[in-house]
Amino acid sequence: MMKLNGRTLLVTFLFTQSVAILTVAKEFDFFYFVQQWPGSYCDSRRGCCYPKTGKPAEDFSIHGLWPNYVDGTYPSNCDSSNPFDDSKVSDLESVLQEHWPTLACPSGDGLKFWRHEWEKHGTCAESVFDERGYFEAALSLKKKANLLGALENAGIRPADEKFHTMGQIKDAITNAVGYEPFIECNVDSSGYHQLYQVYQCVDASASNFIKCPVLPHGRACGNKVEFPSFSSTMSRDEL
Ligand code: AMP
Ligand code: AMP
Repeated sequence: MMKLNGRTLLVTFLFTQSVAILTVAKEFDFFYFVQQWPGSYCDSRRGCCYPKTGKPAEDFSIHGLWPNYVDGTYPSNCDSSNPFDDSKVSDLESVLQEHWPTLACPSGDGLKFWRHEWEKHGTCAESVFDERGYFEAALSLKKKANLLGALENAGIRPADEKFHTMGQIKDAITNAVGYEPFIECNVDSSGYHQLYQVYQCVDASASNFIKCPVLPHGRACGNKVEFPSFSSTMSRDEL
C-alpha cells in the first residue's frame, strides 16, 4: 500500500484545489449592454450605409451585450460549435431590424452584424441563454433603459451644433435608470465630440442593470458633447 507521507498529502491537496478552482471558474462576471447613436455612427469619417430595409428610426440602437470579467478583461468567441443560425431568429428579424440595425457599408440585412455579436460575445454566456435568448435579452434591456426617453426628460434632444456637458448627459441617464452609464464619444466631420455609445452594466442573469464593477476602455468625451440629429444625417450612398 502507498505510504502517505506529508509531501504526497500536500501534492494531493494542491491538485484537488486546482481542479476545484477550475470547475467553479466563472464563465464571466457581468455584462456590458452597449447601445449606439446612429447619428454619430453615420456622421464620422467612416460614414455609414443604411440597412437594405431602409433608414432606421431616430432612436438608439443596440450594438451588443458583452460578457465581461471584473478585472477588466473579457472572453470572446467561446464556442465555434454553436454558430449563428438565422432560422432561430427568423421571426424576430423585423424587430431586430428596428432595434439592432446594421449601419456598416455596404448595406446589409443585419444578419452579418447579428452573427458577429452572437459568435463573438453571446457564445461566452451559454449558461444564461441560447442564441434566441441572447437577442431577446438585449431587446428587453433596450426597452427597459429607454435612453432616448431619459435624455428627452432632461430636455436633451437630438440637434446639430448644440452642446451638453458630460454631467448633464450622465445625470439624465442615471436619474432614469438608477446607475451611472459610461459614455463613449467619437468625432464628427466638423471635429466636435459627439455621444456615440452608451455602456450600461447588467447582472450575470442579463436582466437587471447594476452599478458598473469596472469601467470599459472606450474613447472618452470632452466636456462639450453634441447629441447630433439623425434625421438630418446622410448615408454614404446619399452623399
Ligand atoms: P473598440 O476598440 O473599443 O472600438 O472595440 C472594438 C470591439 O472590441 C468592440 O466592438 C467589442 O467587440 C470589443 N470590445 C472592446 N471592449 C470590450 C469589452 N469590455 N467587452 C467585450 N468586448 C469588448
Ligand atoms: P464588436 O466586435 O462588437 O463586437 O463590434 C465591432 C464590429 O461591429 C466592427 O466591425 C464594427 O464596425 C461593427 N459595428 C459596430 N456597430 C455596427 C453597426 N451598427 N452595424 C454594423 N456593424 C457595426
